[in-house]
Amino acid sequence: MISVEEAKNLLNQHQLSGKTGTVALDESLGLFLSADIQSPIDIPFFDNSAMDGYAIRWQDGQSSRKLRAETKIRAGEIGNFTLGEDEAIRIFTGAPIPNGADTVIQQELVSIEGNLFNFDIENFSKGANVRKKGAQNTTGTLIAKKGSEITPGMIGLLASVGLDQVPVYLPPTVGIILTGDELMEVGEPLSFGKVYDSNGHVLKTYLQKLGVKAIEIAKSIDDPDLLQSQINDFIQRYDVLIISGGISVGEFDFVKKGLENASVKELFYKIKQKPGKPLYVGFRDHQWIFALPGNPASTLTCFNQYVKPCLESWMGKSNTWQPTGLLPLKEDYRKKQGLTFFLKAKEQNGSIEILSGQESFNLISYGVANCILEIPEDIEFLPKGSMVKFYKW
Ligand code: AMP
Ligand code: MG
Repeated sequence: MISVEEAKNLLNQHQLSGKTGTVALDESLGLFLSADIQSPIDIPFFDNSAMDGYAIRWQDGQSSRKLRAETKIRAGEIGNFTLGEDEAIRIFTGAPIPNGADTVIQQELVSIEGNLFNFDIENFSKGANVRKKGAQNTTGTLIAKKGSEITPGMIGLLASVGLDQVPVYLPPTVGIILTGDELMEVGEPLSFGKVYDSNGHVLKTYLQKLGVKAIEIAKSIDDPDLLQSQINDFIQRYDVLIISGGISVGEFDFVKKGLENASVKELFYKIKQKPGKPLYVGFRDHQWIFALPGNPASTLTCFNQYVKPCLESWMGKSNTWQPTGLLPLKEDYRKKQGLTFFLKAKEQNGSIEILSGQESFNLISYGVANCILEIPEDIEFLPKGSMVKFYKW
């Protein structure tokens, strides 16, 4: 049995990375850029007004101008206007600045008398309220770096320069096998001796949150032959295989043997941790195989601590093994030495609260937790205020 640190080091040394490719802009959320992005155009594309108001020429130096009553320049306007001497033209936000104009006086600060336009010139400087061509970026400027996460804001930036396809590290395709004779689907009344499958839903939605799209879930009863054919099928078809349950030492735990038969090479089996001691990780040429112990606390913890960082580095993220941060404990905490404990916790207002209901069958704490807390192997007691590592989902 290896320590948490040894397990993470082994995984880190064995990093697998995904292929690169392009995806549609709106499909790229949560993925990572596989190339630097240079803007193909100047943004703004043309000088335009930042306000609803009146365009003037600063050099006229007058605080009163003739208002060209018939001309209004709207956003989207494609006409070509030129401002005469001592003239002002009505203009709206986003509309092109007419030739000759260089300043916009916002409408709230003017008075109009007949065809005369008056404002207090002291309140303005040359160029006021004009968004200059190229002020965001000029053509060829590096606007986003390789390895950057594609957030909603990044999608806005990429759209603003006109990109409809984005170069990314492609997420892995993932097959999930849920083992257990006792599993029932949500939505049906629960029968005696059975349990609703929750791991399948946790794994699927967690993967989706990471940006994985191609996910197939299969269930297998605890029968070695059926399980074997399911493993053989999925291992042919997916980059990553995740198996829930059946990896412990029970008489009906057939996963490890099934993986050996499918030529999976073991990286490690069993970690000095609670929950999730019988975690198994293996690989084939360019494939990850994770067999997570079935109890829901183990599945969630092992996914957060081991599967997620591996998949994130597959998808081009860096520093995936770092905890989210360190924060002080809200209360004293005691445990036995010998195992690293991962606890469902709530990070709030700069401190960490360990939630009640940590038993492996108890999911109430799941619903409330916003992070997982790590208490090292050799620790027996941590007084309130001790700094602890926490990991957000
Ligand atoms: P196992 O790892 O197969 O020995 O399962 C350990 C415990 O987790 C058992 O109580 C199972 O009923 C439970 N369990 C296994 N798979 C799931 C699942 N998909 N959803 C919820 N509980 C599960
Ligand atoms: Mg089982």
